[in-house]
Amino acid sequence: MSKLLDQVFNPNTFREEGYKLINELAEYMEKIIHGSSDLPVLPYNTPDEMFSFWEKDFNISSDKNLNEFFSKIINKSIHLHNPKYMGHQVPPVLPAAALSDFLSSFMNNATGVYEMGSAGIAIEKLVIKVLAKSIGMNESAEGVLTSGGTLGNLTALLALRQAKTNYNIWKEGTKNKTAILVSEESHYSIDRAVRIMGWGDDGIVKVLGNNNFKLDVNNLNDAFRMAAKKGIEVIGVVANSCSTSLGLFDPLDEISDFCMKNNLWLHVDGAHGGPAAFSEKYKHLVKGIEKADSVIIDFHKLLMHPSLVTAVLFKDGDRSYETFSQKASYLWEAKEEKDWYNLGKRTFECTKNTMSLKVYSIIRTYGLKFFDEIVTSLFDLGNQFAELIKERKDFELAVEPESNIICFRFLGKKKNEEELNLLNRQIRKTLIEDGKYFIVQTEVKNKTYLRTCLMNPFTSLNDLNDLLDEIEKIAKRFHN
Ligand SMILES: *Cc1c(COP(=O)(O)O)cnc(C)c1O
Repeated sequence: MSKLLDQVFNPNTFREEGYKLINELAEYMEKIIHGSSDLPVLPYNTPDEMFSFWEKDFNISSDKNLNEFFSKIINKSIHLHNPKYMGHQVPPVLPAAALSDFLSSFMNNATGVYEMGSAGIAIEKLVIKVLAKSIGMNESAEGVLTSGGTLGNLTALLALRQAKTNYNIWKEGTKNKTAILVSEESHYSIDRAVRIMGWGDDGIVKVLGNNNFKLDVNNLNDAFRMAAKKGIEVIGVVANSCSTSLGLFDPLDEISDFCMKNNLWLHVDGAHGGPAAFSEKYKHLVKGIEKADSVIIDFHKLLMHPSLVTAVLFKDGDRSYETFSQKASYLWEAKEEKDWYNLGKRTFECTKNTMSLKVYSIIRTYGLKFFDEIVTSLFDLGNQFAELIKERKDFELAVEPESNIICFRFLGKKKNEEELNLLNRQIRKTLIEDGKYFIVQTEVKNKTYLRTCLMNPFTSLNDLNDLLDEIEKIAKRFHN
């Protein structure tokens, strides 16, 4: 064996470097989750500055030490465990889930084929079963884990397409003009999935929400009729639980009745808000989710897992075998022939990492009640933040929030919409460059709003009050 290979696989070095890394992360966590770290939330660098930093790093001629590299990475990262991080829907991860991910990387069992990942595959079936039960689906539900909500949506929409066309579309390609009805507020991955399926512009019928930006059955009905008049066959509906931009939940009970009546497949995009089902206090927001034909739920958003792990659930488990083959519907007709353990037949991934491990490590150690606790506390915090915003006369909410996503803007002295948009963009840019907070922004009907996703249960009302103070201070810098 070469000397270098021996060095790379030296167990003592591995042990030493591993201990050091865990130590460093533990110290980091100790400080950061209580807000006492002096690291900025986002150590802001322009893309070119960042590139030249790493180019210099690569060209250092001295000994390259792995732990020193790890420290650099920590310093150059956006710090999601900081309670003042409240930007995109990416969470501070649960330490136990991160450890499980590390173990999964090292063992590198691939869960596409049974022999290659048997423990993880059995655990995946268990995780899916527990999740399906938690959202109220019955024993016949089945599904898979996959790499993210985007792929999850595409997987579910392919099953929808197989189920609702009466010819072998997998073999013959698309023959008729088919479409799905979606909310104007749906995530872009839905639009993308439809275009990947080759349905083009006509394949996606955007339905106007009511005044609350939620799907409305009257509007669904109108859109359904209009499409039929144009010779487009609508075969399904996609509802949001919740929408990405504003965090609002579509009324699933009514929508599922509409789908049942019109023989349409209902897909629920619960990437962000699906976990509301775990919360005794907030599960009313997803009432009816169990009636959907397919549902996706991301574990790497509200449930605080490292990315990526998404569940795709099918109410009628047999459907999950049809995604990638029309034939499957008769091939797997006899129940015993459904080889649930060869997951690659039902997922995009061929080599798939053991993503079930991290989920199971959490529910096995802390129980499902922990998911209730996370969701409930983050949604409570969202409601309390909205109250703080309403108390300040210079601020305005975009909508009454229903989740941990809160959108608002600074008004200050009355101005026209264009000036307000500019001011709020300036505020957000200054805020994140200062590094004390990280928030994002969104456009709603041509208005720019500041957008916060409260992903960190350690974020306090004090932090949120301070954020509003900070925004007022920054606005003054722009003479407001
Ligand atoms: C985040 C999100 C997605 C995309 O999920 P990824 O895991 O980021 O691919 C899809 N739909 C909704 C509603 C989302 O919030």
